[in-house]
Amino acid sequence: MGDLIRRSAADLADALAAGETTSVELTRVHLDRIAEVDGAVHAFLHIDTEGALAQAAASDARRAAGQLASPLDGVPIAVKDVLATDGLPTTCGSKILEGWIPPYDAEVVARLKAAGLPILGKTNMDEFAMGSSTEHSAYGPTHNPWDLDRIPGGSGGGSAAAVASFQAPLAIGTDTGGSIRQPGAVTGTVGVKPTYGGVSRYGLVAMANSLDQAGPVTRTVLDSALLHEVIGGHDAKDSTSIDQPLPALVDAARRGAAGDLTGVRIGVVKELTGEGYQSGVQQRFDEAVQLLVGAGATVVEVSCPNFVHALAAYYLIMPSEASSNLARFDAMRYGLRVLPEGIESPSAEDVMRATRDRGFGDEVKRRIILGTYALSSGYYDAYYGQAQKVRTLISRDFDTAFYSADVLVSPTAPTTAFRIGEKLDDPVAMYLNDIATIPANLAGVPGLSVPAGLADEDGLPVGFQVLAPAMADDRLYRVGAALEALLEKQWGGPLLDRAPTLEVAR
Ligand code: GLN
Repeated sequence: MGDLIRRSAADLADALAAGETTSVELTRVHLDRIAEVDGAVHAFLHIDTEGALAQAAASDARRAAGQLASPLDGVPIAVKDVLATDGLPTTCGSKILEGWIPPYDAEVVARLKAAGLPILGKTNMDEFAMGSSTEHSAYGPTHNPWDLDRIPGGSGGGSAAAVASFQAPLAIGTDTGGSIRQPGAVTGTVGVKPTYGGVSRYGLVAMANSLDQAGPVTRTVLDSALLHEVIGGHDAKDSTSIDQPLPALVDAARRGAAGDLTGVRIGVVKELTGEGYQSGVQQRFDEAVQLLVGAGATVVEVSCPNFVHALAAYYLIMPSEASSNLARFDAMRYGLRVLPEGIESPSAEDVMRATRDRGFGDEVKRRIILGTYALSSGYYDAYYGQAQKVRTLISRDFDTAFYSADVLVSPTAPTTAFRIGEKLDDPVAMYLNDIATIPANLAGVPGLSVPAGLADEDGLPVGFQVLAPAMADDRLYRVGAALEALLEKQWGGPLLDRAPTLEVAR
């Protein structure tokens, strides 16, 4: 049964339908795999053995009664620890939430449960989703399954590493500036940031409300489409949720996999290639574009001149929103409460100060300070206000580019996975990792990362990014699935077949 863990979610759904396996068996083999390898990978912060097996048994009972809840009913999943889970710890990778058990489910989690996907556990992440390496987790880093000395990307490194090391066939991530797509790129997995407003943010602990979006982390493009259809769609509990049906995502993925891209106009974003991109990354990207041309697509070069300011605008807007969001961790409402030493009858403010000092890590404090500064009176217009104007210009760049192209493409990240510790003392070098992913968050458009191969110089995975206009997420799946099918034909199978097997002793 060892090979059950290597199969795609779509395959597992077929195996369940054919009676070859049960949800309880699928859940067990993944829990066994977690026990076997997660000591080395550290993708999970909490594992819910009992809950997952109970949900799996309920799925098997539904199947026996002929009442399936969704096409993925019975296929287990892992969830990033930034989404509230009723009765299961939710820490956001922070000490300040240690021990907090939410009394409700995030809408995404509620939809997973309603669709019958057993939840294996919660995955590791940079504290409050701030980072590109998962090294800012207060619970220790996650390791990249391709090379355990390297980072799995971030902030959702736990979800990507869980899927890449076959501990879960599916996972949920969240993407504020790239945290689904960049971990996907550096672990050889598929990650999708849906259109802003396409997936409910209810119960997603906010880092930056106007940028955050939950989405699929999988091993195939079709699996992402299947999962996206489960979690997506309007939710009245989220005021930014779009009240419009999702496009047909699974159909688009299937159509794409058939390999015909005739009439599709692919725009290569001039500002997101070339200088600053590792040569092996650029090489795999260029080859992938040629493959798409071979499938009938036409390629145009597009220029988005304001993208060069995206990182600067993001690192004003995101900390501004985060500094205001994180004010709610005041030692009174959730998790940790630290009584200051040496003060006999501490005031609420004393307790707050001591708790926030102990509970937040350095990166979180850095961003709270940045954001508070950018929002302070006298500086608001110069920083936050200015960044919002740049944001509008970036959206206009997208609008213009989508006149001449149906999708835009670029490498997902400028480099392959770097070594753990390499960029920890250099926040700006860390921030630069998101140079290609951030524009989509600022404009609210959807993006997907699909494996493009291994870089020659280090043998590590490279990601190919596809971007589409808002609510045209189906285009991501069509182009992504086409590229995946063409590349897998060249490789003779999935890229992850070439990853180390990680047969780690218990
Ligand atoms: N790496 C980016 C940051 O640190 C994006 C994080 C994210 O998407 N959650 O803000």
